[in-house]
Amino acid sequence: MNILTQDIKYLQGVGPQRATLLANELGITTVGDLLSYYPYKHIDRSRIYKINEIDGNMPHVQVCGQIFSFESVGEGRSKRLIAHFVDGTGSIDLVWFQGIKYALKNYDCRKSYIVFGKPSVFNGKIQIAHPEIENAPEQLKAQARTTGSLFEEQPINHNLKDSELDIQPTVFKGLCPSYNTSEKMKKSGLTSSSMAKLTANMFKLLKQHPLPETLPPYIIAQHHLMSFNEAVRNIHYPSSPEALRHAQLRLKFEELFYIQLNILRYVKDRQLRYRGIVFNTIGDNFNSFFYNHLPFELTNAQKRVIKEIRTDMKSGRQMNRLLQGDVGSGKTLVALMVALIAIDNGHQACIMAPTEILAEQHLNTLRQFLGNLPVRVELLTGTVKGKKRAAVLEGLVTGDIHILVGTHAVIEDNVLFNKLGLVVIDEQHRFGVAQRAKLWMKNSVPPHVLVMTATPIPRTLAMTLYGDLDVSIIDELPPGRKPIRTVHMFDAHRPRIYELMNRELSLGRQIYIVYPLIKETEKMDMKDLEAGFEEISKTFPNHKVGKVHGKMKPADKDFEMQRFANHETHILVSTTVIEVGVNVPNASVMIIENAERFGLSQLHQLRGRVGRGAEQSYCVLVTKYEIGDTTRKRVQVMVDTTDGFEIAEQDLKLRGPGDLEGTQQSGMAFDLKIANLARDGQILTIARDAAQSVISSDPEERNPQNDILWRRLRELRKSNINWGAIS
Ligand code: ADP
Ligand code: MG
Repeated sequence: MNILTQDIKYLQGVGPQRATLLANELGITTVGDLLSYYPYKHIDRSRIYKINEIDGNMPHVQVCGQIFSFESVGEGRSKRLIAHFVDGTGSIDLVWFQGIKYALKNYDCRKSYIVFGKPSVFNGKIQIAHPEIENAPEQLKAQARTTGSLFEEQPINHNLKDSELDIQPTVFKGLCPSYNTSEKMKKSGLTSSSMAKLTANMFKLLKQHPLPETLPPYIIAQHHLMSFNEAVRNIHYPSSPEALRHAQLRLKFEELFYIQLNILRYVKDRQLRYRGIVFNTIGDNFNSFFYNHLPFELTNAQKRVIKEIRTDMKSGRQMNRLLQGDVGSGKTLVALMVALIAIDNGHQACIMAPTEILAEQHLNTLRQFLGNLPVRVELLTGTVKGKKRAAVLEGLVTGDIHILVGTHAVIEDNVLFNKLGLVVIDEQHRFGVAQRAKLWMKNSVPPHVLVMTATPIPRTLAMTLYGDLDVSIIDELPPGRKPIRTVHMFDAHRPRIYELMNRELSLGRQIYIVYPLIKETEKMDMKDLEAGFEEISKTFPNHKVGKVHGKMKPADKDFEMQRFANHETHILVSTTVIEVGVNVPNASVMIIENAERFGLSQLHQLRGRVGRGAEQSYCVLVTKYEIGDTTRKRVQVMVDTTDGFEIAEQDLKLRGPGDLEGTQQSGMAFDLKIANLARDGQILTIARDAAQSVISSDPEERNPQNDILWRRLRELRKSNINWGAIS
């Protein structure tokens, strides 16, 4: 039997109660699950420091000595217990803000303890807050006694051998693992250190069961990796800091390698299974549009991207391409020109947007661009009903409709096309892989797919999330745009904000004011929005103020948006419904209230609503005065740069990939166990290359050396729900 699939219940120290807790809180049900529940950090318990060696910048340390005296300080909230702790070389303060009674009851003066914690400096004195405390083993006590006076300078013996210490194996020995545990687990006594006892027991058990290798020997040799056995042991209980680094490297590589192998194998399968429709003519519609209807010159980036897409569409392979371009970089036009190629080759195109407002806006934009060209564009959303809907569905089947613009409604099973040749998905982050795949079924040969996103995705993330897509980038904005000026202001600066608003309004410009809307506090947010609307209406009595929020009926929302777009209202107070894509070039000021409650990419999207005309535009980020460090950094990033890619990288660094907008819905593995997409870009690149070379050198999977890979991949696909979603 495979030891890794053994029920965790039977591991020494677990039992039925803890097994339930482990399953519910951490999803650990087998020995293998526990094995891959890696510690989030290690703590160096390989030595005991002398107090006079310690400074406030050190990581966790342990010292051995005695409590000289207790002292209670402060009142109310700042009430705390201090124990003056000495070891003959100096003294430090142990501090408790909570559990004061417990500490007084359990620790005695003049008894020897091993104290463990993170030193810091307070009022010029070194302290350890909420230390872990254990009774010192006999040997150390003897040492402490022979030092005579506790204040005398006398080193204690640091070279104790493990065998001399009859305490838990997890304590007081080398680099010790720390495990994340939930509140519920802690309450039931399943703390980090009891988790460590379980993993220690697990390794005792595994001694009799060497684990099979999970990568082929040639890959291990090629990349100088640690063996699987050694790596899992050292990731929990490293024999040295170097061994820990090697173990991390091996396991990160393996994790990223299998994700990439899964993606690239899927891409290869897709290429084998499906031909692509060949679009080899550039016809009348395209040419006539290009020469007679284009109101401006394409940017070089737009030209390059259209060329890349064209090459895909005549290659005989199905195109699956991600088009990244910052807000305002002109992706819509690219979509239209590519659609014209499909139409000139006797096919239809479908453009999908995430919201009704956007779909309608696309419809209008496309119709405007096309002018009198014989290209019929229609809309299909949830609100298109009855006769109108029937007519659209009919036109799609007959082929009279050339371009369908719509929302999710276009994926419904009863929407049938005559000959669908191209699907464009705008603002990808709201569509998952599975939904994309559904669109393929709309034609006997799957249509070409172009996914457009204005949320620039860092390379590492793109390789993982959209690793099955080729990537094109529009890295150039249309000429004549002035960079938006961004400022950070506090609530108290409101008069200055009004000044700016007045100035811009008097120049005939328009203004957005955006309030956050977060589900849990929806009521409060609505109050903020209403209060903001009232105040603005009062402060600017000579201007028309509109209001839009998610609770409104789509038709009302559209009505308000339209009024703003037509310059019938001058200030639009809204929630984030205006976030994506809305285009009102005359708007020159974006004021974002409670900016601290938005993610960076979201702020960037919102800011992208202004700066669309030739005028200088402004973005004002309003926060309260007291904000945390991370918030301050995030706001500063926005003030410092308008480069969406830079912002996305910073966002990834500051928040971690799990929080990045849209990644939850993206349908791809995101619960990475050890690799970190923000930090492990280099390993990812190497892992992807390694996976690619396996696929190219052994496309039919006949090389016996690779058997181990395909077997492991099957196992992983079975155990990881998200992986299944990709095909
Ligand atoms: P996004 O990439 O954010 O979807 P849009 O496609 O909405 O950007 O384009 C933003 C604005 O820039 C639109 O008003 C569009 O007409 C205009 N535009 C697009 N391409 C060019 C160009 N090459 N030169 C000038 N303006 C352009
Ligand atoms: Mg757009």
